[in-house]
Amino acid sequence: IVTKLPKVGTTIFTVMSALASEKGAVNLGQGFPDFHCDPTLVNAVTQAMQDGLNQYPPMAGVLPLREAIAYKVEQLYGHRYDPVSEITVTAGATQGILTSVLCAVHAGDEVIVIEPVYDCYVPAIELAGGVPVFVQMEVGAAGYSIPWDKVKAAVTPKTRMIMVNTPHNPTGSVMRAADVAALADIVRGTDILILSDEVYEHMVYDGQPHESLARHPELAERSFINSSFGKTYHVTGWKVGYVAAPAALTAEFRKVHQFNVFTVNTPVQYGLAAYMKDPAPYLDLPAFYQKKRDLFRAGLAATRFELLPSQGTYFQCVKYGAISDQPEAEFCKWLTTEIGVAAIPVSAFYNTPRESGIVRFCFAKKDETLRLALDRLASL
Ligand code: PMP
Ligand code: GLN
Repeated sequence: IVTKLPKVGTTIFTVMSALASEKGAVNLGQGFPDFHCDPTLVNAVTQAMQDGLNQYPPMAGVLPLREAIAYKVEQLYGHRYDPVSEITVTAGATQGILTSVLCAVHAGDEVIVIEPVYDCYVPAIELAGGVPVFVQMEVGAAGYSIPWDKVKAAVTPKTRMIMVNTPHNPTGSVMRAADVAALADIVRGTDILILSDEVYEHMVYDGQPHESLARHPELAERSFINSSFGKTYHVTGWKVGYVAAPAALTAEFRKVHQFNVFTVNTPVQYGLAAYMKDPAPYLDLPAFYQKKRDLFRAGLAATRFELLPSQGTYFQCVKYGAISDQPEAEFCKWLTTEIGVAAIPVSAFYNTPRESGIVRFCFAKKDETLRLALDRLASL
């Protein structure tokens, strides 16, 4: 068989998690919590199973969940999506992203992606026969930022889509109002679509708002907005998310979705719908993770790592130039094997080979796990 994805191997997250477990290292690599989710949520899902809600749900997802999502988005971002025609429940954001790209990108279309880029974007574009066009973020004293003039310069008559991610994995940077305005200026008057990956929407710190594209009617009308319950409710293994998009885009999305997964498991959807009636778990999430971020940063400040800002997500990027001059992947392997703490090389998020001497830690961990990692890192 001739491979369709010649550049793709095993993801860096799988590689580093396997090494961490082989070496007994504290795994701050792959992004997932090491603590339990709320038992109320587990009970809600169990209840749905016991109530016999175990057969195929509607293709787009169970209506109570789509209604709960529409309500949340309207409360937080002021845009009303029609739960019937504009919200689709997906098997995690990974499927939402693949399906958004497959339904919109034709062979030869260009898609602008911003590096560092989450690993599933480029394969999705390539499977659609599209051409990824890369623009690199810049790193300065204030952290990572998107050079919008370069994004604008990358637009051609073939540009079909721009993919953005805020809060951003792996950099922890967050798009501000000025970024959104710059994006709006670029697409105004074109037929360019936007894929907005907002899986970390409830993890923005320091009292700042999440600039969902749903807040901006001009952008919402051309956007597939992707989110994931895995991140918000500490259940990354459940693989349930959603895509909100205007009816015309959703109609195309569902044409692919119905032959991609057809639909997503029923009891989890009913459980999530019941659990979402209480907004506290997602409204409290920024404070919950900000405490962990602050604990982790305070510990790292006493090491030789240089901290970059973490404005959102559950990731903290650091420069390690004062500790080692190894390339990032080598440094991460060494850190895992010799020091007992796993991290992810930011170079893994570049298609254009690039070494910036920066690695990513995940702080979605119990305080005791973070303290153990910090004890080990303090020896460096
Ligand atoms: N986008 C980003 C930026 C992510 O970090 C992740 C999860 N690591 C995903 C998408 C995929 O989310 P899910 O697990 O819901 O498929
Ligand atoms: N999104 C997670 C991360 O960035 C990993 C998910 C996965 O392993 N695909 O670490």
